[in-house]
Amino acid sequence: MKKKELDALKKELLFKRETLTAKNGGEKVSQYAEGYKGFIDGSKTEREAVEYTIQILEKSGYKPFNFGDALEIGGRYYLNNRGKSICAFRIGQNNLEQGVKIVGAHIDSPRLDLKQNPLYEQNDMAFLKTHYYGGIRKYQWTTVPLALHGVLIKGDGTTVKVNIGDDKDDPILCITDLLPHLAAEQSQKPLATAFKGEGLNILIGTDAIDKDADKAVKLNVLNILNQKYGITEKDFISAELCAVPALNARDLGLDRSLIAAYGHDDRVCAYPALTAFLESEKSLSTCLCILADKEEVGSDGVTGSQCSIFYDLLDEICHHFGANRNKVKMNSVCLSADVTAAYDPLYSEVYEKNNSTYINGGVAICKYTGSRGKSGTSDASAELVGKIRAIMDKNGIVWQTGELGRVDAGGGGTIAKYVANQNIDTIDVGVPVLSMHSPMEVISKKDIYETHKAFKCFYLD
Ligand code: MN
Ligand code: MN
Repeated sequence: MKKKELDALKKELLFKRETLTAKNGGEKVSQYAEGYKGFIDGSKTEREAVEYTIQILEKSGYKPFNFGDALEIGGRYYLNNRGKSICAFRIGQNNLEQGVKIVGAHIDSPRLDLKQNPLYEQNDMAFLKTHYYGGIRKYQWTTVPLALHGVLIKGDGTTVKVNIGDDKDDPILCITDLLPHLAAEQSQKPLATAFKGEGLNILIGTDAIDKDADKAVKLNVLNILNQKYGITEKDFISAELCAVPALNARDLGLDRSLIAAYGHDDRVCAYPALTAFLESEKSLSTCLCILADKEEVGSDGVTGSQCSIFYDLLDEICHHFGANRNKVKMNSVCLSADVTAAYDPLYSEVYEKNNSTYINGGVAICKYTGSRGKSGTSDASAELVGKIRAIMDKNGIVWQTGELGRVDAGGGGTIAKYVANQNIDTIDVGVPVLSMHSPMEVISKKDIYETHKAFKCFYLD
């Protein structure tokens, strides 16, 4: 075969992965990244993410919706679910029975929750006991600066918001680690057992309130908290306090191409879901943007995506406009917006390079997640993958596809299966992340911007 013919054949038959590496992101990408950094710094917990989201939505003219409220075509609303999850939605011109368009992400991230009786004193040091939330590698959470975010509900029902450690003048907290000089025995243990959940106790003070008092250090800490927040020890019982890394988002790399931050998973998909939703008001479809809680612990409970609330909302919309709800769901499509494990050359042994997603590879489309023999995945149909692929190509979006590491290397899941179980075609689409679930995750600015564009094309298609 002549070289020319061979080249033509190659061009026609072979699939060549496109990447954003050599594409100049330009001003749009860096501006978008700044907006995202603001969002993630203001959203260290799901509650804060909901508050931040509501601010953005209200600025754009969205109104709070409660069950039973009137709805109108062209109306822009949001349903605030207990301050921990939220659904923004817009009623389109199209007949509902043509289906609605959903992008759903989660706004909770792995962290250390305080136990309900957290405070204790030992050897004149005061500590907070934690129960880790989500899949963490315990060793990563020692010797990093920690902040305390959350709420306490006092006996009289009033809410106290706590935020200690993020302001540069605030003190930080931390979990200590063993010095290498004395770690001979610990170093021989497997990682899974070398660090214990019960050992993740946060150092919170060492000063005594009085030289004669019993538990004088603990009492001193409580006194400081009482002066600042008016709380007592009993109030911890009705509280949700989370220890999160006391780090704000920073540009990473001399070229500033990446962003390092706590909680990219999954706020790095929640933010583009929201911005794309807001920029697709021309869409004729009814569009929903769901930001759910509890994904990192199985999506259970009243604020998780297994809760019926979002489908109750869909029911109410259908009922209001006289649409057949079963038909609406059957014809709807959901992008489960969640992160993928970006290929990491330092740990190449756990990835399969032809089926991994890459930093600067663009928005990642995942047909399935799960573990072992695809256990626990909704596995999007080839038809749906085809449809999404066509939308991406039509709009010049740089996209890639991959799965979560090598077969049998481990696994994981997203909200996709819970939405799919409601008879809504669903596929995972999101941003590749390095060091996922660590206190400092890493993403690419070009990838998040491409994901924003991808979600926007989906809503507008
Ligand atoms: Mn996630
Ligand atoms: Mn996760």
